[in-house]
Amino acid sequence: MKLLEERIVKDGVVKDGNVLKVDSFLNHQMDIELFNEMGKEWKRLYAEDKITKILTIEASGIGMAVIAAQYFDVPVVFAKKTQTLNLDGELYSTKVESFTHGRVYDVVVSKKFIHKEDNVLIIDDFLANGNALIGLIDIVEQAGAKVAGIGIGIEKKYQGGGDMIRNKGYRVESLAMIEKMGHDGIVFC
Ligand code: 5GP
Repeated sequence: MKLLEERIVKDGVVKDGNVLKVDSFLNHQMDIELFNEMGKEWKRLYAEDKITKILTIEASGIGMAVIAAQYFDVPVVFAKKTQTLNLDGELYSTKVESFTHGRVYDVVVSKKFIHKEDNVLIIDDFLANGNALIGLIDIVEQAGAKVAGIGIGIEKKYQGGGDMIRNKGYRVESLAMIEKMGHDGIVFC
């Protein structure tokens, strides 16, 4: 998606440790006009899929998932990160290793909010090694629901998570795909 790529070039900052900082428009301050265009694009890509629910993970996936949901006319559920897991049978839970913090979180979703009839679109801001997505897919499948597809803002393709997930048979639509990046610039696929 040209608009997102141009914005990454204009306002993204490459940090050490393979981190792209996009906090001025994507995951701290949020550009809602840009999110609208991203939402429309995911809707165009998944128009045939009869999505019933969008699943994302706190915190930075929530904004774009909420805006996208207006085009799909479905609820958004966000998976919660917790360090005190109280397994009372009411929650689906999985473990996710955080890319940016290097910690393992328990991630939970109430069983009330995903059912086996659901056709779920998973949305997140970044795809790097794929750990966050593996956790979200696990939660959908614990519920017996279907992963209709995955919508990502920025995929750092060279980190391999996207290919690993595509190889498992899931559809991944990333609106910007980075081939490589460094302090001297960003190359898109
Ligand atoms: P993964 O689990 O695919 O390795 O990483 C995905 C998660 O890590 C995303 O939910 C995102 O919050 C965070 N993340 C991964 N790479 C980056 C990055 O380059 N910049 C920022 N801001 N977050 C990232």
